Amino acid sequence: MSKRDYYEVLGVSKNASKDEVKKAYRKMAIKHHPDKNPGDHTAEEKFKEAAEAYEVLSDDNKRARYDQYGHAGVNGGSGGFGGGGMTMDDIFSQFGDIFGGHFGSAFGGFGGFGGGGRSSRRVNKGSDLRVKVKLNLSEIANGVEKKIKVNKYVGCKSCSGTGAANGSSYSTCSTCRGSGYVNRVTNTLLGQMQTTSPCPTCNGEGKMITDRCTSCSGEGVVRDAEVIAIKIPAGVAEGMQMSVSGKGNAARRGGINGDLLVLIEEEKDPNLTRDGNDLIYSLYLSFSEAALGAPVEIPTVEGKVKIKIEPGTQPGRVLRLRGKGLPDVNGYGRGDLLVSINVWVPKNLSKEEKVSLEKLGKSDNFTPAPDSTEKNFFERMRSFFD
Ligand SMILES: [Zn+2]
Ligand SMILES: [Zn+2]
Repeated sequence: MSKRDYYEVLGVSKNASKDEVKKAYRKMAIKHHPDKNPGDHTAEEKFKEAAEAYEVLSDDNKRARYDQYGHAGVNGGSGGFGGGGMTMDDIFSQFGDIFGGHFGSAFGGFGGFGGGGRSSRRVNKGSDLRVKVKLNLSEIANGVEKKIKVNKYVGCKSCSGTGAANGSSYSTCSTCRGSGYVNRVTNTLLGQMQTTSPCPTCNGEGKMITDRCTSCSGEGVVRDAEVIAIKIPAGVAEGMQMSVSGKGNAARRGGINGDLLVLIEEEKDPNLTRDGNDLIYSLYLSFSEAALGAPVEIPTVEGKVKIKIEPGTQPGRVLRLRGKGLPDVNGYGRGDLLVSINVWVPKNLSKEEKVSLEKLGKSDNFTPAPDSTEKNFFERMRSFFD
């Protein structure tokens, strides 16, 4: 079939302005719109023909090529639309420009046309579920798989989630005759237009269940408990949220599952305080340990480690155990364990102890006189934060 001249199709002259082309197309589109001419294939052809003509004549480049070379200049070449012409989707997506946004969508929704029906039927989605997971420090340090029992909607096994008592107990919806959409005539600036919306009777499904599944009352979902294994990566922190796709509530009658949202909570550790990826441990030394030096054990997320306290270690010193903190959740290395030194001052001394201490107290070594090798308080604080 040879193609008609595009100017002829739209009924405009060769030197018609862009605005005239647009107006002419708008007229043709309304006249030959499939919703106005149901089952009329001549109208459908004219509708497509007009859309194709407009596609070329509304584009300066394509129009110039068409003027120079005719159909050969715009068909089958690069960027052109080939012999197949435009699809209905192409045409309706073009309508936004022609009629403004709301007309585009009004036209876009017509159903049952061209045999294929709508490409985008409404899909049910199950709702998301939220759970909290409490982790101890060692689980945070190493990552963990937690098995959690979740009460939720799952697909009904009796009816495989369809809601129908047996596979074939459906009837076509009488309201929309199976299209899933209903048309409504509305008055607009351009006269009466048909708009479409999901059928209220069948919820856009196009069919009705005649014999409902008794297990789920036709919903396709039932309440049940499911044990879900959740892999939690190392380094997570209080308040972080993970999403496990598809593990939320099942949707009514075979839609897409919602997601499971996992909120992380931290259990307080008796020994270690978290500061980002660093951990802080408060170490209490006896006066003699601080003065004489001593081997001590420090709890870490991987068990105890032994460190040596140097003789003359002052309270307030912070020892940094590199890499003994928590791994970064994004894999950027590992934090440190900061050991904050405290010295325990004894109370309730016996008489003998008091005598000994008083004697020692007279020694010059027991008089506070920070020497040059000992950092002052502010330097120590800086070492704590660096
Ligand atoms: Zn069922
Ligand atoms: Zn319906």
